[in-house]
Amino acid sequence: MKVLKFGGTSVGSAERIKNVAKLVVERGKNIVVLSAMSGTTNTLVEISDYLYKHNIDGAKETINILENKYFATIHDLFSAEADREAATTEIKACFNYIRSFTKDLFTIFEEKEILAQGELMSTALMNIYMHSIGVKSVIIPALDYVRTDKNGEPDTQYIKQKLTALLEKYADAEVFITQGYICRNAYGEIDNLQRGGSDYSASLIGAAICAEEIEIWTDIDGMHNNDPRFVEGTTPVDELHFEEAAELAYFGAKILHPTCVLPAKLNNIPVRLLNTMCPEAKGTLIHNTSGKGTIKAIAAKDNITAIKIKSGRMLLAYGFLRKVFEIFETYKTPIDMIATSEVGVSVTIDSEKNLDPILDDLKKFGTVTIDRDMVIICVVGDLEWHNTGIEALALEAIKEVPVRMISYGGSNYNVSFLVKKEDKVRTLNLLSDHIFKKTK
Ligand code: ASP
Ligand code: MG
Repeated sequence: MKVLKFGGTSVGSAERIKNVAKLVVERGKNIVVLSAMSGTTNTLVEISDYLYKHNIDGAKETINILENKYFATIHDLFSAEADREAATTEIKACFNYIRSFTKDLFTIFEEKEILAQGELMSTALMNIYMHSIGVKSVIIPALDYVRTDKNGEPDTQYIKQKLTALLEKYADAEVFITQGYICRNAYGEIDNLQRGGSDYSASLIGAAICAEEIEIWTDIDGMHNNDPRFVEGTTPVDELHFEEAAELAYFGAKILHPTCVLPAKLNNIPVRLLNTMCPEAKGTLIHNTSGKGTIKAIAAKDNITAIKIKSGRMLLAYGFLRKVFEIFETYKTPIDMIATSEVGVSVTIDSEKNLDPILDDLKKFGTVTIDRDMVIICVVGDLEWHNTGIEALALEAIKEVPVRMISYGGSNYNVSFLVKKEDKVRTLNLLSDHIFKKTK
């Protein structure tokens, strides 16, 4: 059995829901994981914001607008009156539930309950649509088996046990449909796996049932070898190692959520990225092996701040780096890139939320300078150090670009450069021309 995950745009309209249903049916008995229809989760966040601010009129108006969109979808999706009625009843129940919060005080847990309605609605519509075309689908409610533990991490044992039991219970089903993103926490309250978390759900489900493959369906034909918004003539990458995919996912290749990679990798379940608009395209296969000694893709991450700490005290001293890192830890700020020399260290962060106190604390250890509006350019591939010349290829490509930091050797799979925001597009193109076009 496979896990097929469809993102928000793939189920974003009646027509697209029909299209997904067709793809699903062609593929036989699998578990289908759905996101909320595109735009829904954002709107539910908006509604929650209104409720936090006690702007009841704002909340009600936004609820009505969203509800009407769903009614319009129902109208387009179903032709039989009985199906329209069944769908309307389900959708109305969700909206009335959301509306119930316009009457009482609003808390953080209630926001999660509101956010959960998006996936509950998309799966309800898909299930009724499946029935309308004669497919015996069954909803396996994510809230009955996806649970996190006290640390907020998925409880994989629980998920496996509960999901297996549910699949056995509905053994006759022709297709299983389930919600991405939503779950319960260790106390049984409704929660979620963070924004964009449906990929993570798919990966956890795939791991739980030892799926043959996890298919992530979006509206692009796989992971491209560079950012198509800035570079012309990018092409999908046929195959990636899990490690390569993890690097790319973090460095802004939006197609696959970073957390998604881990459960699949640990359980050795291949992940295939496919395009609902062009189902015959090969897409990208992510697995535990991949082409040796080649560069697969280039990605960029914006809004990076580089911090340099220079200190005579670092010379031949030990414990200096620990003290520096502890400051970032205190302010819960992850560090992305690091470069060190004998008398200084540069690090990058992608959030300036706690920058001021961090800088104040760092100043106790030396001279601190910062560079804002930087971009990490990440070159991903099999860069294992015995493969000579690969990092040189990347360096050679960007010899005219001022580079603030270089990071190589942290993993076997990437070399990263920190450049100015205004040099981003040029750098991406130079790398693309030099690495992909010339070597073809
Ligand atoms: N619907 C959720 C979101 O928009 C989860 C997802 O789409 O993966 O963040
Ligand atoms: Mg999404």
